Amino acid sequence: MSDCIFCKIAAGEIPSRKVYEDETVLAFYDLDPQAPEHILLIPKTHIASAAEITPQNSGLVAHIFEVAAEIAAQKGFADGFRVVTNCGESAGQSVKHLHFHLLAGRDFTWPPG
Ligand code: AMP
Repeated sequence: MSDCIFCKIAAGEIPSRKVYEDETVLAFYDLDPQAPEHILLIPKTHIASAAEITPQNSGLVAHIFEVAAEIAAQKGFADGFRVVTNCGESAGQSVKHLHFHLLAGRDFTWPPG
């Protein structure tokens, strides 16, 4: 989508601090970190939100979770991290391109606010 900031990051048109990249997935540091480690994982193709996950694209979503586990292991926080996706404005989704927040480096409360 031409007006989507995460599509532009995926295409390299907007710079990001990359953590991981392959043909279908990009991981990069969040600009406004909510934990000592705050990485965003996105599919390179445009999926608007978790509400748009289907049998056709769920393999890609599974791959994103594999990448999250790999990053957690490589960065040494596999024993404690949170993966979150906000879906819809009422849940706090500000960028309408599916993304998973990978957060670590501090304790997290439950339930989330
Ligand atoms: P959400 O509010 O769940 O939609 O998450 C969007 C996230 O994207 C927020 O945590 C923002 O800080 C982050 N963000 C927005 N623009 C950028 C950018 N250009 N580079 C890195 N992170 C960004």
